[in-house]
Amino acid sequence: MSRHVFGRGTGLPTASHAEGAVIVDRDGRHYLDGSGGAVVTSVGHGVREVVDAIARQARQVAYVHGTAFRTDELDAYADELAPLLPVDDPRVYPVSGGSEAVETALKMARAYHLARGEDRHVVIGRHGSYHGNSRGALDASGRTGLRAPYLPWLGQARHTTTPYEYRCAAPSHPTGCGRWHAAQLDALIGDDVAAFIAEPVAGAALGACVPDDEYWPAVAEVCRRRGVLLIADEVMTGFGRTGRWFACEHWGLRPDVLVAGKGAAAGYWPLGLAVCSGRVHDTIAAGGFTHGFTYSHHPVGAAAGRAVLRVLAGRDLVARSAGLGDALDRALRDRLGDHPAVGDIRGLGLLRGVELVADRPSRRPFPRSARVAERVVAAARDHGLLLYHSTGCANGSDGDVLLFGPPLVVSTDQVEEMAQRCAAAVRVVLGQ
Ligand code: PLP
Repeated sequence: MSRHVFGRGTGLPTASHAEGAVIVDRDGRHYLDGSGGAVVTSVGHGVREVVDAIARQARQVAYVHGTAFRTDELDAYADELAPLLPVDDPRVYPVSGGSEAVETALKMARAYHLARGEDRHVVIGRHGSYHGNSRGALDASGRTGLRAPYLPWLGQARHTTTPYEYRCAAPSHPTGCGRWHAAQLDALIGDDVAAFIAEPVAGAALGACVPDDEYWPAVAEVCRRRGVLLIADEVMTGFGRTGRWFACEHWGLRPDVLVAGKGAAAGYWPLGLAVCSGRVHDTIAAGGFTHGFTYSHHPVGAAAGRAVLRVLAGRDLVARSAGLGDALDRALRDRLGDHPAVGDIRGLGLLRGVELVADRPSRRPFPRSARVAERVVAAARDHGLLLYHSTGCANGSDGDVLLFGPPLVVSTDQVEEMAQRCAAAVRVVLGQ
């Protein structure tokens, strides 16, 4: 073990090999991956088609700069992806991950307004949201814990309310919440606002919160009426995760800009995408887009993304995500639905969250000092199950959520196994 790696944890096992939804460490321990890492490995490990496509492209052209050459691979990828995207006449700007995609989307919004002669620059995000750790993306994010050390660098973005059904702030809850949240957004918009960014289904930050059906139509109407670009962050929800190709489809939402990452290349390549509509693209193109990264428009990334697309389509994994997601939901409810510390089980497709509470009737969260989510995740690991977690959902500090986002290739038996091991871990930490 090298001391020269600036690592992200202590006492971590060393991954040796992996297949499908199972990772094996150097000591031969098997881990059932309930979260695909950070909800990344959608097609699972060991998919030959993806590995071969990457090798083939790397042999042919390993790298060219995006301002010097086009590549057939990227053109083909964009053409295959375009019909699946919930964006009108989509234009794909590939980058190296979710944060870069968000930065690109924010700059697209700024460039769009500048090209129209409007000095709009403010971005509105939502409380409790997460859009990445680079500075622009972090400023749009509403997660106070992640923002705290860097506050002197932040503060340009504004934040509005989040449709968090379990802890909804709308006075009329459970009626009219979506329209109430849209009105909060409307009230925050001034002439300086360029874009509103949000996840269609709140992923890691709030643990698979699904808004009520009125939310997205009402928000889209506000953005359209106020001339604000709508950016859908589908870094976590995209590419089949919620049982549709993109979560926007659940509400017929057509954002001006969509960002993706994670499942786009399923962990085989660090690929992110910022996709804008033809209207936004053409407006920006007239004035030029001052932006770019060394590794944007990467031909090997395009090969990886294209191969993943084909695996998702060829194995019908999006429909599988919907069906197995329902199975996971049922299995979690069977085993944990009555547990006094389980406040809520929620999600869509194979993106599912379990919110843990100290008191179910009042929904009081555990104090942060109890580190409940971390302890349950550690206990699950002891039971051979990997989970993702989030904290601070209730008030920025307290609030514990377990997140499931397994590879879409998991079997029904593995889904049952995940729920059973998760329930065992919850009981180890929180008793009956
Ligand atoms: N947006 C969302 C919704 C995310 O969940 C994440 C990562 O978890 C990001 C953006 C940032 O992506 P990355 O970590 O690839 O930079």
